[in-house]
Amino acid sequence: MMLDESNKELSVRAMKGMHKTLQEIFRVRPGEGIAGQVYQSGNPLLVKNLAQDPRILQKPKPRYKTSSFISVPLKLRDQTIGVINLADKITGQAFSEQDLQLMVALGGGGISIAIERSQLHEKIEALKKISITDPLTDLLNRRYFQGRMLEEVERTRRHQIPFSLVIMDIDDFKTFNDAYGHPEGDEILRRVSRVIRKHIRAIDVASRYGGEEFTIIFPQTQKEDARIIAERLCKGIETEEVLQKKFQPSSPTVSIGLASFPDDGETAEELVRNADRALYQAKVQGKNRVVVFNQDPFPKTPFS
Ligand code: GH3
Ligand code: MG
Ligand code: MG
Repeated sequence: MMLDESNKELSVRAMKGMHKTLQEIFRVRPGEGIAGQVYQSGNPLLVKNLAQDPRILQKPKPRYKTSSFISVPLKLRDQTIGVINLADKITGQAFSEQDLQLMVALGGGGISIAIERSQLHEKIEALKKISITDPLTDLLNRRYFQGRMLEEVERTRRHQIPFSLVIMDIDDFKTFNDAYGHPEGDEILRRVSRVIRKHIRAIDVASRYGGEEFTIIFPQTQKEDARIIAERLCKGIETEEVLQKKFQPSSPTVSIGLASFPDDGETAEELVRNADRALYQAKVQGKNRVVVFNQDPFPKTPFS
């Protein structure tokens, strides 16, 4: 059992041989019950016969087969961080002083260090996630996007499989902000993000690029396949039910620019610039549409 910092209760974090449901229901406060007392005092406890032990007021519980148990503190340096409880020795006999000594040694050393290391690892992972996540939309952020673009360019150079990039911008977002207020504007951003998530595959990488701009990387995806997803996405946002109800008669739409590597750019930077050019074209052409980047928008005909 470990102390849960949020509610200051000891709860079961790992177990063996007990019924799973006990893990959820079995919690105590420091000082309460046997595990809580061992946690608070920091002193290990060996009970050979629960029914006859004057230190224990508790009656033997029917879920245990024997009435002997061990409860030892998990110590890290001078601090108690949890408790290990053992019951029902496999031989059916009572636990011995030697059993207790062994558990005290484990609880005071190796186990705690391993737990601390894994908790530290969890914390680092959580921080890593925060540093690459946009808090409003829960999509990845621009920092992650930029790193990932470089990786995808490298990957394509190695394996010769093209990838595609979409840049999306909400149409007339300023008008919505002005008419409905900033919090409703934020709600549009969240809704749009949700639609994006719904339309892309697990391997695709959606990020919030700026205020009301989003990017999606489609790894190992030809332009035409990416265009089909982008078209669906554009429609999906235009017809999103909650947005439609809230902002009728004209609900938010997006414009999308699409470019693919290596056809439309030799570097990550150039690809972004060209996807952005296509996005600009989508705005010029009337918004709420997908425009695919075209190196030469006015190709010469054989007759010109
Ligand atoms: P266009 O169709 O050409 O894209 O027009 P637009 O109004 O969307 O473009 P513009 O760039 O003029 O406006 C973007 C607005 O987005 C301006 C800014 O106030 C708003 N904005 C940027 N970030 C946020 C945000 O996090 N929340 C909210 N509510 N608004 C934001
Ligand atoms: Mg914009
Ligand atoms: Mg906009």
